[in-house]
Amino acid sequence: MVELADAIEADFRRWPEFDKTPRIASHSDIGVIELMPTSDGQQYGFKYVNGHPGNMRRGLQTVTAFGVLADVATGYPVMMSEMTILTALRTAATSAMAAKWLAPRDARVMAMIGNGAQAEFQALAMKAVCGIEEVRLYDIDPAATRKCAANLAGRGLRVVSCNSAEDAILGARIITTCTADKQYATILTDNMVGGGVHINAVGGDCPGKTELAPAILHRAEIFVEYPPQTRIEGEIQQLGPDHPVTELWQVIAGEAPGRTDAAQVTLFDSVGFAIEDFSALRHIHRRLRGTGFFQDLDMIADPDDPRDLFGMICRAEGAQAA
Ligand code: NAD
Repeated sequence: MVELADAIEADFRRWPEFDKTPRIASHSDIGVIELMPTSDGQQYGFKYVNGHPGNMRRGLQTVTAFGVLADVATGYPVMMSEMTILTALRTAATSAMAAKWLAPRDARVMAMIGNGAQAEFQALAMKAVCGIEEVRLYDIDPAATRKCAANLAGRGLRVVSCNSAEDAILGARIITTCTADKQYATILTDNMVGGGVHINAVGGDCPGKTELAPAILHRAEIFVEYPPQTRIEGEIQQLGPDHPVTELWQVIAGEAPGRTDAAQVTLFDSVGFAIEDFSALRHIHRRLRGTGFFQDLDMIADPDDPRDLFGMICRAEGAQAA
């Protein structure tokens, strides 16, 4: 988590070097399928990812993903990876990186509202990167909270299971919302959020899918990944198009202030941006070298003469006939 947060932070620091576009989303009534591409001029990466809140009822995951890293010099892909787990890791590492820059320095307690697939990763990243000692769990489904508490047992966090969101945020200086529902939901109401907290809003990441009461947004200092994407998908879709936001990379690069006073409410309106996936793909590609944790894939046709693609088929036909 610490390595991954560092890798993402290094790429946020050189943000202007990247190609950037809002992700390409194909929406249906029940979910979304998205492509998330970017390049730093040396390497190119993309992620294919879905988000289907109703999948859980069918015994399927809400989010699944895979991704590709390619060499810009040749255009050849160099690695294909599962990214369901890697998305959970990079989303958590990005949350923790944002909290490192924005949360009150003495934050030791976090609330984790929504205890599904992402939850344990979020809590463990906050522990590793920000020194969180206690996580307070709440989910509308008690079975999710039981699962999360059991998975987190023995991992160095004090885990408190709560019966309401109000209970979960008691004493918490970092509040993470990570619920899945394709609607304008209100996981946090205005009166639940006092001063001096950092909110990490992870679950609202699609048009029509938000977690926070608009009044919170009007009180908070808002930090985002890539405004053209977040204005479509994030909590700030509930605000006017000119409402001021700060790009997180600018805080990390020293070009904009982060938290400026202890009583402020800071909000990281996380939607997930392609550069985080690129950083994660590049990081695991580096770390895979010299390990056995990969397989060579026979994915690219390799004709003896690069222009004789058809000849390659003819030779294969001949070999089959013989
Ligand atoms: P999940 O379906 O595994 O878990 C979601 C949990 O939220 C469930 O346990 C559900 O019971 C709970 N929930 C729903 N409504 C609630 C409410 N009102 N109060 C409390 N809990 C409630 O999903 P997941 O994989 O953990 O993802 C959660 C959300 O995060 C999804 O919306 C997903 O799209 C989003 N996400 C965002 C990013 C990002 O980068 N920002 C990355 C990955 C996932």
